[in-house]
Amino acid sequence: NKQVLLKNYVSGYPKESDMVLATSTIKLKLPEGSNGVLVKNLYLSCDPYMGPRMKNLNNGFFIEPFKLGSPITGNGICKVLKSGNPNFKEGDLVSGVTGWEQYSIIESTKYMSKIQNTDVPLSYYTGLLGMPGMTAYAGFFEVCSPKKGEYVFISAASGAVGQLVGQFAKLLGCYVVGSAGRNEKVDLLKNKFGFDEAFNYKEEPDFDVALKRYFPEGIDIYFDNVGGKLLDAVLQNMRSHARISVCGMISQYNLEQTEGVHNLTNLVWKSARMVGFLVADYYHLYPKFLEYVVPYLKEGKIVYVEDIAEGLESAPKALVGLFKGCNVGKQVVLVSPE
Ligand code: NDP
Repeated sequence: NKQVLLKNYVSGYPKESDMVLATSTIKLKLPEGSNGVLVKNLYLSCDPYMGPRMKNLNNGFFIEPFKLGSPITGNGICKVLKSGNPNFKEGDLVSGVTGWEQYSIIESTKYMSKIQNTDVPLSYYTGLLGMPGMTAYAGFFEVCSPKKGEYVFISAASGAVGQLVGQFAKLLGCYVVGSAGRNEKVDLLKNKFGFDEAFNYKEEPDFDVALKRYFPEGIDIYFDNVGGKLLDAVLQNMRSHARISVCGMISQYNLEQTEGVHNLTNLVWKSARMVGFLVADYYHLYPKFLEYVVPYLKEGKIVYVEDIAEGLESAPKALVGLFKGCNVGKQVVLVSPE
């Protein structure tokens, strides 16, 4: 059983060498009377929250660090090989929390669900139809209370979450601008996802000037994936009653000292609302989300771009690449096609 293990806790940016590829010779067998499942891992998801889990920090992060010397864990798509649980049978395709290895024993199936729509690419259950999709849906519709015609700005806009937020906002009839860190991504935003405008934030010397160029009348909704200086500039460019959904702050996750945000007082002057949220609190809306998104997907009104790295051995590089903007779209690792 090939595995990707956490070798040491990380300080600063995670590196490939913080993980190690190993082979376990222990024969995997579902224990007698177990309520769990033995699975073959097909796809593994790389998500930004996994970076902070590689650090041994006690800073209020919402989930505990990975265990040293153990396989990295995260969302994945798996095939059930053996089941001690009446809800899953041999051959079922499931999505849920699994290990970065070829085969896993999953004792707790609490976060595991059977895949119902098998006529969409399986890997979409790590992205569009999985946690990032739910994040875009809940973070935009529930947290931002958007209305037709509003001015929407999205950072890390071509990523797993951002590309969907932009398309949801366009379907609602909003004016949508996204920022991304490479011209190739800016091109996707404008030409594939239908954003009205997009810019490369790495080529903008002054974020305030850039935002004023695209939002001369100000921003109604900011879907924040990055935090830091860009958030500060948005705070200077809000319209009255603006809403900021703080989805993530990836620009801050690996800094020893996080950047101060100086313009928070503007929340008062603009009667604006800035709300952090965790997607885990919105999973009761998953059926509603599927009802909304699947028809659009089938009609081709929503598209999804993935970046698929092949082979378990490519997983460390794929994960650390998230923090350097290497991924174009949702980063997935293909472990085995079936
Ligand atoms: P992405 O697919 O967008 O991948 C991460 C991207 O972040 C990179 O490609 C890069 O894009 C950008 N990035 C990396 N480092 C920096 C930096 N220093 N400054 C600015 N941008 C940077 O990831 P996701 O869509 O999966 O996640 C987006 C955000 O949503 C993250 O902050 C994540 O933590 C958060 N999240 C929150 C959830 C919640 O429950 N609140 C659930 C899921 C995700 P670029 O090249 O454009 O810079």
